[in-house]
Amino acid sequence: MTTQTDLGVSDSLREPGFIEVRCPADGRVVGSVPDMTSGRVHEIAQQLRAAQPAWEDLGPQGRAKHVLRLLDWVLDNEKRLLGLMQEETGKSWGDAQVETAVVVDAVNYFTKHAVEFLADRTVERSGAMALTKNLRVFHRPHQLVGVITPWNGPLATPTIDGIPALMAGAAVLFKPSEVTPLTWAEVTRGWLEEVKGPPVLACVTGGGATGAAVVDEVDMIQFTGSTATGRKIAARAGERLIPCGLELGGKDAMIVLDDADIDRATSGAVWGGLWNSGQICVSVERIYVQDKVYDEFVNKLTDKVTALRQGMDRDGSFETDIGAMATENQVRIVERHVADALQAGARAVTGGKRGNGGTFFQPTVLTGVDHSMACMREETFGPTLPVMRVRDEDEAIRLANDSPYGLAASVFSGNKERADRVARRLETGAVNINSVLTATMLLTLPMGGWKSSGVGGRNGGAAGLLKFCRQQAVVTERFNLRSEPHWYPYLPRMSRLQARLVRITGAHDWRRRLGRKGKNRKG
Ligand code: NAD
Repeated sequence: MTTQTDLGVSDSLREPGFIEVRCPADGRVVGSVPDMTSGRVHEIAQQLRAAQPAWEDLGPQGRAKHVLRLLDWVLDNEKRLLGLMQEETGKSWGDAQVETAVVVDAVNYFTKHAVEFLADRTVERSGAMALTKNLRVFHRPHQLVGVITPWNGPLATPTIDGIPALMAGAAVLFKPSEVTPLTWAEVTRGWLEEVKGPPVLACVTGGGATGAAVVDEVDMIQFTGSTATGRKIAARAGERLIPCGLELGGKDAMIVLDDADIDRATSGAVWGGLWNSGQICVSVERIYVQDKVYDEFVNKLTDKVTALRQGMDRDGSFETDIGAMATENQVRIVERHVADALQAGARAVTGGKRGNGGTFFQPTVLTGVDHSMACMREETFGPTLPVMRVRDEDEAIRLANDSPYGLAASVFSGNKERADRVARRLETGAVNINSVLTATMLLTLPMGGWKSSGVGGRNGGAAGLLKFCRQQAVVTERFNLRSEPHWYPYLPRMSRLQARLVRITGAHDWRRRLGRKGKNRKG
């Protein structure tokens, strides 16, 4: 059992209240963390602010040395970290292991490119006033960035935003979910005590109130979680006039056209819909299959889902595929969606019930579903694959877009032009053609939800790091003039000459250049 009493926080800041963490697979208490008050969050934020200037002064190469040491530490402690994560999430070992790859990618990508991304940018002169100037843009970090995360990826999710924020030169105040705080608290301890990194990274623990306190302290907030919480954070960020990035919920559609490779499409649906027990923002949550291939798709999908092994396996054993759900509340949402569908005439061709003990829910395929059902409208965030028969491409696109969410989607087709055509009509921030989930994991592509799935976005090459910076416009003089022609005092001859120059250089016809009225433009 892990008791985190010191998350990089001094003795005087320790909390009287603790949050108990249980393993969802079997209900065991596996650790506890302090339930921190806003006062504690404020003190920790002050410590981070004090440490940030020296961190910024290190420059990207200096910061990269520390961040690469963190990667070494994560790899050296991988088994222990993933074991801890497994205990607090109930994931299968295979699902847990994917999170290491996210750390490896994020650290290697942003440490490799930070010098280039943060380099001062020289920009083109524009307008008469710029003729005597040199123009540059400096990238200066927000001093304190808050990163608030949900429970589904305790190692990966803080990493994908935290690493670029650190590499930008910000100090980072993390607030992991109260359901799964142990993994990130341990990473923070590792950074401070074993990596001996500067105190520019802290992890505060607690529930929504602690998260709200983080929003009140930081200069920029990056939030991943539900749309409902995202709205509250956006409202508070608006009041405080701080920027926020919101990565929120989704109801991702998969479209399977009649020329698709059904073996690949069904395997994609199984992993894309059920990885992490379906608890991924970009999970395949609903599938539209064209009439001609519908029966083949459902038969193959059902066989593959039925063959999945469910359970929380031993460290490193890869004996199961799909683990538990993270919370009892999450199981209840899945139960409600399945019950609502079955009552309205749908059929569970495999699964459809809770597993034995813990918070397991059987991997489930639902047929006979339609958009009157909760399983096709609301985010399920569970191991269900509702499949709907559609007439044609147009019907599939119309139904896929019939959602308040717009995170990602998948299109399966043997014809590249056809798949592109469908992708261009989908109202989502990402489209995977003949694949699932992938766009989210690629750091050079932007990841940002449309509609109620988010604001801002992450990744996308340099943008993924520069979002944690403020742009500073810097103007320097090319010549040592004693004054500028447009400065006081206004001299009649000089001012008239300037007015003429503006017309001569700015107008598009000779009449206007000479100070007369010109003809109207045609067309
Ligand atoms: P949640 O919104 O309930 O909680 C997320 C985090 O916000 C937690 O750390 C929580 O303590 C904190 N929080 C709660 N109230 C707060 C407040 N008022 N102010 C500040 N912080 C507050 O979400 P969850 O149930 O933990 O996670 C599931 C949701 O996350 C799903 O909707 C899922 O789609 C979404 N998600 C989105 C992405 C993405 O990148 N788009 C990734 C993973 C999960």
